[in-house]
Amino acid sequence: MTPISKRIGVLGAGQLGRMLAIAGYPLAQKFGFYGTSDDEPSALLGHMHKQSDDVDSLVNLVEFTDVITYESENTSIEQVREIAKTTPVYPAEKSLYMSQHRGREKGLFDQLEIPCAPYRIVDSLDSLELAVTEIGLPAILKTTTEGYDGKGQFVLKEESQIKQAWSEIGNRELVLEGFINFQRELSIVAVRNANNEHVYYPLVQNVHHEGILRYTIAPAREVSAEIQQQAEGYMQSLLDELDHVGVLTLELFETVDGLVANEMAPRVHNSGHWTIEGAYTSQFENHVRAITGLPLGDTSVRQPLAAMINIIGETGPVEKVLTMPNAFLHLYDKEERPGRKLGHINVLAVDEDSLYKDIQALSEFLPKA
Ligand code: ATP
Ligand code: MG
Repeated sequence: MTPISKRIGVLGAGQLGRMLAIAGYPLAQKFGFYGTSDDEPSALLGHMHKQSDDVDSLVNLVEFTDVITYESENTSIEQVREIAKTTPVYPAEKSLYMSQHRGREKGLFDQLEIPCAPYRIVDSLDSLELAVTEIGLPAILKTTTEGYDGKGQFVLKEESQIKQAWSEIGNRELVLEGFINFQRELSIVAVRNANNEHVYYPLVQNVHHEGILRYTIAPAREVSAEIQQQAEGYMQSLLDELDHVGVLTLELFETVDGLVANEMAPRVHNSGHWTIEGAYTSQFENHVRAITGLPLGDTSVRQPLAAMINIIGETGPVEKVLTMPNAFLHLYDKEERPGRKLGHINVLAVDEDSLYKDIQALSEFLPKA
């Protein structure tokens, strides 16, 4: 083992774990995964500890590792707390606890004076009706836990929809959020290590279709230095309050009145995939560095502009990507399925014209609308 080698255990074995391992190998890091099957994207990138094997596979993973991290904010708190008795888990319990519940997350935003949509937690039809009168319409109703890719959400436009919304996604705890009239969706990825170093990537612009991120432009166009600083300030407060170690992502709405926080994720994020070729140090490498106690890497961009296009549902004409000089193909080795994230394409460009030309050439990977 080289002096900086660590054995990293990842709870989950999807594409995020796969890209963490790909980024960690040049630093002589070793990986183990806690997953469900040998077909998962990370399966061939380290020791696979399958949940189905027997009750000890998590114990085996923890014994194998120096540090544990996870791919999803839906990771079990109890599991993390148990592991943390013997092995460091980064990001630690508090980051996970706060980001796996939309109500707690918004409470934290309020505490740190980070603007977010007005909201009410509801747990019955009556409390939902009351919340609608307080928040007003339109509003967006979300499950407090377990939502992703826009699942577990209902956009309420009229009072007549309240009963339908409650029966479709209710009968459990929900949060009603005021609808934010945003100009753009932005996000920021930040990293902190245990030595309290902080680094920030530039704000990026995210475009969604049917609840799924389709592409990201990095850095977002026409972001003033003040707005970037404001976003970094929000991240610094969050990182410090959580004593966060690793990558943290904040999704934001840009409005005429400034930035409004949507949600955060205590992990590498789809809107940070552009950093693999687009930044001097990728979000994946910086996460690995942070959790293994290494100095954090430079987050500056390698080219003035980058784009990340998600490959969703069908793999598509990927050979074409390989013929484009500034395009980089990343496939996760997953079976095609509607709405599934199968890979992404990063594009680097010297200016806006050439970026949009490249995006145009890749339009088969984008939704028609
Ligand atoms: P993902 O997994 O893509 O991050 P998610 O299921 O966690 O999504 P959110 O990010 O909360 O859900 O919401 C999905 C999308 O719905 C947002 O990207 C945004 O386009 C829209 N949206 C969410 N909340 C609001 C709001 N309060 N006002 C306006 N639009 C919203
Ligand atoms: Mg989101």
